[in-house]
Amino acid sequence: MAEPKKKRSKTRSRRARHNKNTNPIGLVNCEKCAAQILPHQVCPHCGNYKGKTL
Ligand SMILES: [Zn+2]
Repeated sequence: MAEPKKKRSKTRSRRARHNKNTNPIGLVNCEKCAAQILPHQVCPHCGNYKGKTL
């Protein structure tokens, strides 16, 4: 029978590594005011979207 040589901790598990660098909330920084905003939406702070102020 194939047995794992060492017991993997939760942080070493494949799933934990997979989501390591992803933001769970999915926020991005506004290019203009650097505020944390939702992607693909107009910034509520400065009204910036794709380099244009709406
Ligand atoms: Zn902004």
